[in-house]
Amino acid sequence: MISQNIIFALSKSQALVRRFARMHLMPPTSTVENYLKTIYQIQWGFRADELVSMGQLAAKLGVVPGTATTMVKALSDSGLVVYEPYSGVRLTEAGEKLAAMVLRRHRIIELFLVRVMGMNWSEVHDEAEKLEHVVSETLITRMDEMLGRPQVDPHGDPIPDSEGTLKREEYHTLLDCPIDTPVVILRVTDQDVAFLKFIEESKLMPGQTIKVETRDIAAESVSVRSGAQRPVTMGMLAASKILVQS
Ligand SMILES: [Zn+2]
Repeated sequence: MISQNIIFALSKSQALVRRFARMHLMPPTSTVENYLKTIYQIQWGFRADELVSMGQLAAKLGVVPGTATTMVKALSDSGLVVYEPYSGVRLTEAGEKLAAMVLRRHRIIELFLVRVMGMNWSEVHDEAEKLEHVVSETLITRMDEMLGRPQVDPHGDPIPDSEGTLKREEYHTLLDCPIDTPVVILRVTDQDVAFLKFIEESKLMPGQTIKVETRDIAAESVSVRSGAQRPVTMGMLAASKILVQS
């Protein structure tokens, strides 16, 4: 006769085996981390009950929705996301923490590459995309100390703390900040190389004080002056990617 204890021990070990098997069927860490990071970034501006749709997620990751759904189901089995078929996906607390730690590594690496290694801010994103999955916590802690525990990366993106907490910040963009009033640029939200070069050449990098001189809705253009520089005119889309103090 099998005692209750043995049955309990057996079912417990089977659960462990299943979990182990699941872990080994999981895709590579970098894929998991990229999914978590992307969901995190999309859901950041959402209400607590709002879900990230598969279409949104797939588009951001550059995969077909079917691929995203298969992956999200695996993440759901691991307890990293809550998946509701036909509605969408949201990170669990564990998933959120893991995602924040990926962003933390990414942003510390970017700042390290710029400040310590002297790289240009337009070339560090791609390097950080690769390194964020392989650097150890020890190395990140050391880089963080060397940089003096920074709050933001070279693009002004806030760095989550070592607990994975990310502060919520309110910003204006060049589309809705007050006209003809000095404002400080805090963040640039597009990491495209050409866009970052345009920002650098136009002296619109984080930390710069600027003034929006005109905003022409009909021409869809915004004209900005930075110090004694000639005014720079840009389209509404570019203006929406430059965040200033609120
Ligand atoms: Zn980056």
